[in-house]
Amino acid sequence: MASGQYDFDLIIIGGGSGGIATARRAAEYGQKVAVVEAQRLGGTCVNVGCVPKKVMWYAASLAHGLEEARDYGFDLSVHGHDWTALKHARDAYVERLNGIYARNLEKSGVTHLQGFGRFLDAHTVDVDGQPYTAERFLIATGGYPVRPDIPGGDLGITSDGFFELEERPRRIAVVGSGYIAVELAGMLRGLGSQVSLIVRRDGVLRDFDDSLRQALSREMASDGIELVTGFVPAQAEQGQDGYRLSAEDGRLLEGFDELLWAIGRDPATPDLGLEAAGVEQNTWGFIPVDEWQASNVPHIFAVGDVTGRAALTPVAIAAGRRLADRLYGGMSERKLDYDGIPTVVFSHPPIGTVGLTEAEARREYGDEKVRCYEGSFVAMYYALGERKPRGLCKLVCVGEEERIVGCHAIGMGVDEMMQGFAVAVRMGASKADFDDTVAIHPTTAEEMVTLR
Ligand SMILES: Cc1cc2nc3c(=O)[nH]c(=O)nc-3n(C[C@H](O)[C@H](O)[C@H](O)COP(=O)(O)OP(=O)(O)OC[C@H]3O[C@@H](n4cnc5c(N)ncnc54)[C@H](O)[C@@H]3O)c2cc1C
Repeated sequence: MASGQYDFDLIIIGGGSGGIATARRAAEYGQKVAVVEAQRLGGTCVNVGCVPKKVMWYAASLAHGLEEARDYGFDLSVHGHDWTALKHARDAYVERLNGIYARNLEKSGVTHLQGFGRFLDAHTVDVDGQPYTAERFLIATGGYPVRPDIPGGDLGITSDGFFELEERPRRIAVVGSGYIAVELAGMLRGLGSQVSLIVRRDGVLRDFDDSLRQALSREMASDGIELVTGFVPAQAEQGQDGYRLSAEDGRLLEGFDELLWAIGRDPATPDLGLEAAGVEQNTWGFIPVDEWQASNVPHIFAVGDVTGRAALTPVAIAAGRRLADRLYGGMSERKLDYDGIPTVVFSHPPIGTVGLTEAEARREYGDEKVRCYEGSFVAMYYALGERKPRGLCKLVCVGEEERIVGCHAIGMGVDEMMQGFAVAVRMGASKADFDDTVAIHPTTAEEMVTLR
């Protein structure tokens, strides 16, 4: 039963990663909870993010694997790749997940309100014309991909449109330098597109450790991705011969049959009625929250991408579950620690990383306190073939005890290995702890405990 005069104890706007996780946890504690979702349950991650992306990454990895299979004696003749079939199988999988999310909400006793949520006041939301009241609210509306504010910026597609492509583009311009741009470029290349990756500055993945950035740029180039640097788009056009892109400095790129903008994401806060509820936003539209996920209005909380912090699915889930534990589970001190969040870039080869980059560590601790260990390797998997992608492992250590504050890797398998190393880094492991750990041979992971 909802407390007192309200329809619900908690109304959550947004049925994505953060919203659904929080709703189910709060309902476990006996609260009357509703989730308002305007589109498909599961949000970005399930519908146009992590899940369909990973399917495409597997497909591109298989394409590489088919080439490499020949080195292992397989006599293969591959008769092309059916992008349309893959897309439809992937869509069917995502639809199954949508169904599972709906059933799980139902099983947990959470009310699913389908429609667009908008605050009418600090205790009421309108859902497609129907008002609902609650004691507390959680805003978990996520974000959406942006387009550039230039002539022709409305041409082409964003990452959302990538997942709607029925056919593989023959030649595509991917504009952007973040992890989404890098990942989509790698998948398209793996599946046979000619890819130009167009970045404004000097390279990709600006927030990552320089060693990883350089190693990835090298591997992308050897895979045949054209990296165009220092290109600030000024105009996009569509002509007879495809898309053309001109830069502020006058350079012109043309002949693309698809154009993909992967230049960032804005928070889904427009039309949310935040003013009516008195909830403040920052300059970019994100909702600032304190360490307890509370907005400036004490009974209105926010988690996930809409807060502008560490835009990752497990972060939205963890923040939301901890919030429910604190509000309804009697765990008064429970909150998310945003330090040391591990993450993977599903590039080809993948990147895994946790903690500070070398540059961040030097800024935070000073040059004399920081020592880095780095080693590059070719995974044994490639021993029999001509293609020799180089991987890299790097530890960033501080102080006399050489506490590891950053652990970075690129190469085959690092996507799966980083989770375990993240536990060690979080527990305060030192270089000596890594050295004292007996290696597992022959693996890529052993590189991390044998660095000198
Ligand atoms: C291409 C891509 C790849 C990604 N890959 C990864 C990855 O590999 N790993 C990872 O951890 N993260 C990944 N992410 C990021 C991840 O998807 C997000 O961090 C995560 O989905 C954020 O969860 P959320 O709950 O904040 O918002 P979302 O999952 O975006 O959910 C928000 C929901 O709110 C709904 N909504 C918005 N406004 C309203 C409204 N007013 N009323 C009702 N409903 C509303 C939306 O329809 C949406 O369903 C990826 C993102 C993209 C775009």
